Amino acid sequence: MDTACKHPKVRVVAREEDVEYVECLDCGQVFDSNEFRDMEIEEEVAQETEEDIK
Ligand SMILES: [Zn+2]
Repeated sequence: MDTACKHPKVRVVAREEDVEYVECLDCGQVFDSNEFRDMEIEEEVAQETEEDIK
């Protein structure tokens, strides 16, 4: 488990005014989606990011 999880699958676990908390279905980490901006979230999954995944 030394490889950094790219959190390919997340789900929203809580939502506050302008913050969404998401949980990674792979590693179980919970973080707010503001930190997660650069990555894809749920329906915003972009297929064209494939080349960034090793
Ligand atoms: Zn993860």
